[in-house]
Amino acid sequence: VDLPIHEAVLARAAEFGDTPALIDGTDGTTLSYTQVDRFHRRVAAAFAEAGVRKGDVVALHSPNTVAFPIAFYAATRAGASVTTAHPLATEEEFAKQLADCSARWIVTVSPFLDTARRAAGRAGGHVREIFVCDSAPGHRSLADLLACTAPEPAVPIDPAEDVAALPYSSGTTGTPKGVMLTHRQIATNLAQLHPAVPAGPGDRVLAVLPFFHIYGLTALMNAPLRLGATVVVLPRFDLEQFLAAVQTHRVTDLYVAPPIVLALAKHPLVADYDLSSLQRVISAAAPLDAGLAAACSRRLGLPPVGQAYGMTELSPGTHVVPRDAMADAPPGTVGKLIAGTEMRIVSLDDPGTDLGPGAPGEILIRGPQVMKGYLGRPDATAAMIDAEGWLHTGDVGHVDRDGWLFVVDRVKELIKYKGFQVAPAELEALLLTHPGIADAAVTGTYDDDGNEVPHAHVVRGPDAPGLTGSEVMRYVAERVTPHKRVRRVTFIDGVPRAASGKILRRELRERA
Ligand code: ATP
Ligand code: MG
Repeated sequence: VDLPIHEAVLARAAEFGDTPALIDGTDGTTLSYTQVDRFHRRVAAAFAEAGVRKGDVVALHSPNTVAFPIAFYAATRAGASVTTAHPLATEEEFAKQLADCSARWIVTVSPFLDTARRAAGRAGGHVREIFVCDSAPGHRSLADLLACTAPEPAVPIDPAEDVAALPYSSGTTGTPKGVMLTHRQIATNLAQLHPAVPAGPGDRVLAVLPFFHIYGLTALMNAPLRLGATVVVLPRFDLEQFLAAVQTHRVTDLYVAPPIVLALAKHPLVADYDLSSLQRVISAAAPLDAGLAAACSRRLGLPPVGQAYGMTELSPGTHVVPRDAMADAPPGTVGKLIAGTEMRIVSLDDPGTDLGPGAPGEILIRGPQVMKGYLGRPDATAAMIDAEGWLHTGDVGHVDRDGWLFVVDRVKELIKYKGFQVAPAELEALLLTHPGIADAAVTGTYDDDGNEVPHAHVVRGPDAPGLTGSEVMRYVAERVTPHKRVRRVTFIDGVPRAASGKILRRELRERA
């Protein structure tokens, strides 16, 4: 773990040789391990020749492509920190990120070049050059960089101090924050996650979640490339394309978020594809209902869907369901604490009090994967990590006697109805069991008496155009204690979600 991230990940690239490392799921373009190793070194040399220096920030602004890891590891090898950006970010959002981290270089793709150019202009004068992975007039392409004959840069990297990645948190609860992760933090976490995220030789992983988010970066890029698996890359989630890619490329491992589990469990199209190559489905990033997980694994004839838990600030993982325990893990668990990490669950009313098994409270984490800090926000960092090094996750959870963790929801999302606490995630899961509901989200709102009450935002299924609000409320009322009842229903066309699959409840509250 005390290697720079590109070396930690690509340590065995020579051994894996001609094995396909990356396959473009749209056109079949394939890169072997030998090519990934050679290409990232060449591009690193070109970056150094172009002027990329140790400590510079390179913004990688691209959907998933086979070139993404090349650009990423080339930048870190040149000594830079990589900030990953959402390719569909607006000019204003991207400009904010570029300005926030004073990025000096951008690597983008031609469809998003205009946005990148304008964002760079708006961010101030510090962007020196914009490279494109494919090609565009007036910009150096990856092919141009590969032709570089300069010697490979030998930049000294201190894995314990130097920032390898600067991902931004999802922005689910507010403005996304730049998270400084050192080489050591990321490499350590890869080793810690090993019992669950070891896709290795012979395994084929489908990279449909974005590499630019820490979950995709870890589970779909760093972990499988470190161990010799093959990564089939898709630029975005489209259900038909996704199912076709599983079938064509005989995908074995899926790392997804709950909306994809929902589609796999419920969508009629799933029956049209041969998904028999699949061996494991793992979900993370947002609460997944046990019933939904069971419906998905039953339909696919697989062991129970495994989960993992983490956050950008934790490099990102702390809990996983180990591969050899997928069949035995209790339904709904996000997993067990990984090696070398400590956890406490503390009372929400009295944060000084530790809670035992079964009692829900805030999850605190301490370990080598806790971030270096938020970039340029010492106050936010201090609010998150206390003097003893405990990171306050803002998530509510409880453990059972065997140490399996269950995540309830975020502390801030809990709805306080007359002194009771209601977790929106629990009601969302219940709503999805209604045959006429295609998707749902729950937020807190206030009734005429000033009580905070659950508000359901419901997407009607194709077979239930006549579903009414009172039917939805009755369905819930028959199944929960009275304080958890849904007391307002709004029908919507779709649930707004972040790229990582999280429900943007903030947006629904603003709309309401
Ligand atoms: P921001 O911090 O900017 O508001 P975010 O918290 O959504 O956004 P991420 O770091 O991408 O940004 O997400 C981490 C959060 O995702 C966790 O704090 C937790 O709420 C949620 N999460 C991750 N895995 C799970 C899981 N398996 N079950 C439930 N929630 C999960
Ligand atoms: Mg967060």
